[in-house]
Amino acid sequence: MGAVTEFIKGLRVTGGTMLRTIAGEGPVTIEYPKEKRQKPQRFHGRHVLNRYPDGMEKCIGCELCAGACPANCIYVRGMDNDPDNPTSPGERFGFVYEINMLRCIFCALCVEACPTEAITMTHLFEMSTTNREDAIYTRETLLMDEKGGVPHMFPDDELADMDELAVADGWVRATAPSGVAAYQGVKMWQGTPGPADWAPEPDQSELDVLSAAEDNDG
Ligand code: SF4
Ligand code: SF4
Repeated sequence: MGAVTEFIKGLRVTGGTMLRTIAGEGPVTIEYPKEKRQKPQRFHGRHVLNRYPDGMEKCIGCELCAGACPANCIYVRGMDNDPDNPTSPGERFGFVYEINMLRCIFCALCVEACPTEAITMTHLFEMSTTNREDAIYTRETLLMDEKGGVPHMFPDDELADMDELAVADGWVRATAPSGVAAYQGVKMWQGTPGPADWAPEPDQSELDVLSAAEDNDG
């Protein structure tokens, strides 16, 4: 008797779904991987190491991201810049940068800790590998090229969606440096080349205008 009841319940679920589909309310599934869902702005996917629009690397090798990482999966080593041919605008640059994606919990604390917005996260989540070594993303894999492109782990994959590498997570935008309320909701990215083309953050004079506007509103 119990089996018959369960069978009837199953038929009801199937019939209900069919009726919803006929009524234009379905299907609720999509044909992944041919089709991909729009992800929320703050979706935390694989990381990318950014450059300034002039091609300089943003990473200054300070290791704050590694210190903030709760999973202890970032390894950074800084090196002094060559004064005649600097890699970053700082004294040093990150000449070794590795993230062990098998340990990463995609919390974005590294993004928050970074003082130069060098490390950010994209919307790309397709990172399966057939061996552990490939799950350790090196500087070569993470660093964008001078036009803003990011090396893909699987460049021959027809389904590799480069657009997902161009979408940065919104974590930094929502937080305020030093807790200054005037930054709330203000785009906080520094300029970056490439498809994302993030506008530079406003300078202090613009922030003063924002503060004044906020005061007036209050
Ligand atoms: S997202 Fe979190 S766990 Fe992953 S590297 Fe950054 S700080 Fe570490
Ligand atoms: S990514 Fe940011 S926090 Fe990490 S070493 Fe580079 S500059 Fe420092």
